[in-house]
Amino acid sequence: MYKPSFNNIENQSTKLNPFGKATYKCPICENPTVHISIKNSFYLESDPDVDLYPRKLTWLKKGFEDYYPRNYYMCYCSMCSFTSGYHLFEEPIKDCTITSYKFKKTMKNLLSEPRIKMVAGYLSDNFDGRSNDFSQAFKIHYLALFELLQIEEIVKNDSLNLGRYLLRLAWLFRDIAKNDILKNNFLPKVKSITQWLKKYWPDVPKDEDICLKKALEYYKNALEHSTAITTEHNLIMAILLIARLLMKNGQIPEAKWYISQSREIISKLEKSINISKESIEKTSEILSDIKRMTMSVDDVRNIFENYWALYEKKQLEKGRNILKIYKNKPPEKIREILLANKIEHNLVYTLVPAQVHKKGGIFSFFS
Ligand SMILES: [Zn+2]
Repeated sequence: MYKPSFNNIENQSTKLNPFGKATYKCPICENPTVHISIKNSFYLESDPDVDLYPRKLTWLKKGFEDYYPRNYYMCYCSMCSFTSGYHLFEEPIKDCTITSYKFKKTMKNLLSEPRIKMVAGYLSDNFDGRSNDFSQAFKIHYLALFELLQIEEIVKNDSLNLGRYLLRLAWLFRDIAKNDILKNNFLPKVKSITQWLKKYWPDVPKDEDICLKKALEYYKNALEHSTAITTEHNLIMAILLIARLLMKNGQIPEAKWYISQSREIISKLEKSINISKESIEKTSEILSDIKRMTMSVDDVRNIFENYWALYEKKQLEKGRNILKIYKNKPPEKIREILLANKIEHNLVYTLVPAQVHKKGGIFSFFS
């Protein structure tokens, strides 16, 4: 992954300036683009939520508590309006179905279309790289998304970045939702932004829930169609992220399926090692890869266990309520009803166990 070098802008010597500056070459118009963000040395993000949203932000230097480093994620070119996550900016598509040449050409044409220009103009109006204003952060995230959504190949095949940006947008919604001042201040502004956008973008994602669901959709689509997911490692990472988003979304059985897929990929990889054919270096490389992947899978599985326990508890509650209603029906019929109500198969048998022969029957005679 490309890591930009951050330099102080206003004052190198004081070390009190939280802003870092990096200059990138715009991949569309080739002009230098300055991107401003908060220096890593100023803050620490921790306590990740299941979808990796860092719930805790600790400032390592005092006086910057009003800043939200995530608001500086997007890099915006003021010359052509192209916007992208800063670490993807110079190479917004990599190993994708669409070539860099075609992406550049298509995006260049799009950015000169009046309709796109109108939206870009609105979303980047008075853009100030240093501002910590949430409405600006929302606007610039919407702009990056809107631009990518115009390219069919991206939507159909190479939708990883769409998933990424939607997840980031969901996090911005969560940031403002958990702070009353931010919520009162920015939620009405975000509503007016999405209201404005509706004319050009009818299904503009307008809350956290929709952003998460759409992110999930695009990640799943990329998993199926993107040529950018080439190695087993990338594949596992994509699958685990999908499992995390499914858990966040309350789709627990589906998350279970994805986690089991990740384990299958690892076990296939383990079986494929042919010690007699591969060199020692190659074998040990694969083994250390497997070790890393297994650790990532185990992390997600540990989180999953808590979600599963809670899910089972809810399922049993729901099942017991159904039992109360249909208690006079024969066991087979009750099981059918439980299954029709999406109660897990094994839990159906916990709720309505297989018949045990009554004492005094023919079996007691032989015992
Ligand atoms: Zn540009």
